Order: sequence, then C-alpha cells, then structure tokens
Amino acid sequence: MAQITVAGLSTVYPNGVRAVDGLDLTVADGEFFALLGPSGCGKTTLLRTIAGLEQATSGSVAIGPRDVTMVEPGKRNVAMVFQDYALFPHMTVQENIAYPMRVRKQPKATQKEVAERTAQSLSLGALLERRPGQLSGGQQQRVALARAVAIDADVLLLDEPLSNLDARLRLEARTFLKRLQRELGVTTVFVTHDQAEALALADRIAVMESGRIRQLGSPREVFSRPTDTFVANFIGSTPMNLLDGVIEGGHVLVAGARLPSPLDLEDGTKVVVGVRPEYLAMEEGVGITGTVSIVENLGVGSLVTVECPDGTLVGATVREQHEPAVGASVTFVPERGRLLLYSKETGAILGQ
Ligand code: ADP
Ligand code: MG
Repeated sequence: MAQITVAGLSTVYPNGVRAVDGLDLTVADGEFFALLGPSGCGKTTLLRTIAGLEQATSGSVAIGPRDVTMVEPGKRNVAMVFQDYALFPHMTVQENIAYPMRVRKQPKATQKEVAERTAQSLSLGALLERRPGQLSGGQQQRVALARAVAIDADVLLLDEPLSNLDARLRLEARTFLKRLQRELGVTTVFVTHDQAEALALADRIAVMESGRIRQLGSPREVFSRPTDTFVANFIGSTPMNLLDGVIEGGHVLVAGARLPSPLDLEDGTKVVVGVRPEYLAMEEGVGITGTVSIVENLGVGSLVTVECPDGTLVGATVREQHEPAVGASVTFVPERGRLLLYSKETGAILGQ
C-alpha cells in the first residue's frame, strides 16, 4: 500500500497535445480517489503516466517514498484495469488472471493458488476454464479486476472499468467495487466521466479539464460548493441552475426576482447565480416566480422547469404529491445558504 504523489506533471504527446498540464496531486494511502471530467480532459493519460505506460514530459510521480518517474511500468508495482478490459481472448479465465504472476515468474503453484482464490472472491470460481468470449460483460469486468488485484499491487488504477456495462449491472458492479476496495485497502485511482459514479464511490474527487484539476474535494464539497461554473455544470444528476444576475442594494436581481444577496458586493456587479434544483423549494415566499413549462419524472419526484417573465428557465425538484400542472404559476424559494455567487467574468466562485 502506498501514497501516490504527482508533482508538476506534464505529459505531452509527440503531436504536441499537452494532455496533462502541470498537475499536482496526492492520493492518500488506501484512499479511493476518483478522477472525473469530460472526454479528452486527460484522465487516461494521467493514469497511464502514473502506471509508466506514458513517459512524463516533465514533473514527477512517486509511489510511497519511491520516485518512479523513470522506472519502467513492470517495476512500479501498479495494477491497471483498462476500459476495454484488454483480456487475452485465447487464454482461459484462469490463465488471464495468472498472466501478470507468470510475467513476474512466480512459481506455478502460487499462480494457480492465487488465481483460484481471487476468482473465488470475485464469484468467478465456476468460470476458470472459460475464455473471455464465453463471458458476459460483467464477468469479463470481474476477470479484469481479478487479474489486477491478484498481484497484490501497491496501487490500483481503474480506467472507466464500468463504462461497458448496462445500467443495472453497472450499479451492482459499483457496489461490488467499493466493497472490494475497502477489503483490499489498496490505494485506488478510479477514472470516470460519470459524476454520479464518482460521487457514490470516492473518498475524494478531482474534477479535471484540459489536463488540469479544476476542483479537488470530498463528494459533498464538490457537489454542494463547486468552485467554478465549469464544475457546477458538470456535477449533479440534474444540472445546476446558473443564472445571470446583477447586484443592487444588497440584493441580487435574477430571473425577474429580487433575492437577498449572500455576499456584500458593489452595486452593478455582474454575477452568475448558482443554485441546485434540489435546493429550491416550491412554496410561498421570496423567490423566483415563473410559469411551469416542463415537468419531468425523476422516479422519486419530478424536475419542474419554469419560464420566468424575462425568459430565463429555472429548474427545481419537487415530490410527486406537490407536482404542479403545466401552465401554473409557482415560486421557487432557495434554501438558506444554498445560493452560490460566481464571477460573471471568470466563472470563479465569489461565495455563498
Ligand atoms: P480522457 O481519458 O479524459 O478522455 P485522454 O487522456 O485520452 O483523455 O486524452 C487527452 C488528450 O490527449 C486528448 O486531446 C486526446 O485527443 C489526446 N491524446 C490521447 N492519446 C493520444 C495519443 N496517443 N497521441 C496523441 N494525442 C493523444
Ligand atoms: Mg479515457
């Protein structure tokens, strides 16, 4: 087990793409850490650079006390699960799981014993003689995991390991993965573009964009206090309302409403008001009033979108028993302390 320390790391591809751009990151020993961000932001490249499959252009990677920046991948004691699992199609499950041990020239008997034990713990015991082509997606995913954990690595790197599974299986696999990581206590970096997955699994999350970290924090921090509008847009299963506003006399004028400003800003300051649909209550009071234009079923409750007199659209979640009719006039009152103000100019948070 070990801490991962990434310092000033850049990885530039030969074509000039700076996929990781001066990134600093420390993952604690035993932590389940999620790297979250849109496609192309550099998640895979960062993982591959930690594993040694890409060479860092500058900066360093340390695993535990050891600087591994120049160490070849096989000697970093890192295990990686790839997005497409990368199982060997001509090998059985048993041979696939044992492969890294074979490469490490461990005794045949150990290979067999560890492969069988790991397969058992991942409910693959009955499938040891099958080939990947004879397995379901979820089973292939578990074989890939088994192959990774069988070598007792210091660090486990998972690149979107659940993305090829269908929705239900994915939820199951998620719970399973969380339990496995807890049991093994292995330092884990989990890459995903799915914010719900990151929120559910991780001890901490880093939100990446263009090779850099935009925000790093606990799932709760990142969800309830995104530090800029990029992160605010990215996190949340219903999108955060991000509304143009302007400060006037201790209030913020937004969507035709006049709400008490949580911050003491100069009159005329242009802001973006951020408030999650979950933190708007449909009730009488000082809030944003509009006409209901869409009601979407969320399973538990609904997302109600209103159109305000100035044309702004604002969403709020409500319980099904309070669901308003389309065309009704309703008011959404922000919960105390849940109004976030961002700079209109830079998108950075001003406060709440
Ligand atoms: P993510 O995993 O977040 O989708 P990647 O790390 O795969 O992002 O890619 C980051 C950037 O690097 C993208 O612009 C991508 O096109 C580029 N890139 C990835 N792999 C290579 C490569 N082998 N050669 C050149 N550019 C690459
Ligand atoms: Mg990727």
